[in-house]
Amino acid sequence: MKKLVSLIALALMSQPALAEEAPKWSLAIHGGAGTLDPAQMTPDKRAAYEADLQKALDAGSKILADGGSAMDAIKAAIIIMEDSPLFNAGKGAVFTWDGTNELDASIMDGRDRSAGAVAGVKTVKNPILLADTVRTQSEHVFLVGKGAEDFAVSKGFAVTPPEYFATPFRREALERLKAEKLSALDVDHKFGTVGAVALDSQGNLAAGTSTGGMTGKRWGRVGDAPLIGAGTYADNRACAVSATGWGEYFIRVGVAHEICSKIRRPEPQCGVVESDDGVGGHVECRSFRALSQERAQAAADAVMADVKELGGDGGVILVTPEGHAIFSFNTTGMYRGRATSAGVREVAIFGGEEKASKTPDH
Ligand code: ASP
Repeated sequence: MKKLVSLIALALMSQPALAEEAPKWSLAIHGGAGTLDPAQMTPDKRAAYEADLQKALDAGSKILADGGSAMDAIKAAIIIMEDSPLFNAGKGAVFTWDGTNELDASIMDGRDRSAGAVAGVKTVKNPILLADTVRTQSEHVFLVGKGAEDFAVSKGFAVTPPEYFATPFRREALERLKAEKLSALDVDHKFGTVGAVALDSQGNLAAGTSTGGMTGKRWGRVGDAPLIGAGTYADNRACAVSATGWGEYFIRVGVAHEICSKIRRPEPQCGVVESDDGVGGHVECRSFRALSQERAQAAADAVMADVKELGGDGGVILVTPEGHAIFSFNTTGMYRGRATSAGVREVAIFGGEEKASKTPDH
């Protein structure tokens, strides 16, 4: 009889888990959650949001369908939303109290939990790429303000003029906030942060988030989006999460890490299986038990309920090693989309708009 004679240490990176289970790849994106009112949504506005969400979803899906990495897919999707003036990230970011646009972003690779983040950046067109460069080309995880911009220049990023990020719609929101002494929630109605999470066909997970924060922010306020564990988290043993919402609450709950820790499974264990004749053998990995879509959804919903309990609102997207692509939000809507190799492909805005799109259980 074959027996497992020795467990070998796993390589530094987590082994891809359940790589051959369907769906082989999976992608979810968001463009912010909030108190969205269907009555305020004109057909033109809706079409414009859906078109940009679809573009982002298509860009990420193509990479994954061609066998590309989860990291490349989430960057491609996020860049499209950063470049769109419709979302509160990159171009179209909200204004600070002082009339500037200060950008935050973070990214994490579920293979080795390497992460990069930047906050308070004013001159980088695509902050998600700078966050990724912090991850890959520095010994740090989180750079802020002028230091992050100096780092960007040292790595060859172009200096983008601040006017590029400014849009009349967001400037008007700041003016209204000041004139009518409103809160950011009153003027924004929604959090327009963008994010993407993916599982690739090698079984690796990745997550990224990019934002301008909240209208009228001051005193160097930073929300959850660039904080690893709050707005972004990825771990091959558990899930990849990106959040949008009232950042202070997401930080206090540690939303992204909290969801992943609820569904984290043990590392798959690999060992050498001797051949019957005792000569040679092969390596076999015992993969961990698959998680049902319902359990993954329940984990995300429980953490979002905790955010609500404290008084916060917003939403999350996540994917799991099984390929479940999940949304959870406690607002009336979340700009969102998901696509998988099993044929799911949809964008939605208000609650309950998805078609039945359960990924296969294992
Ligand atoms: N979470 C972001 C922040 O608090 C806002 C958003 O989701 O749009 O900065």
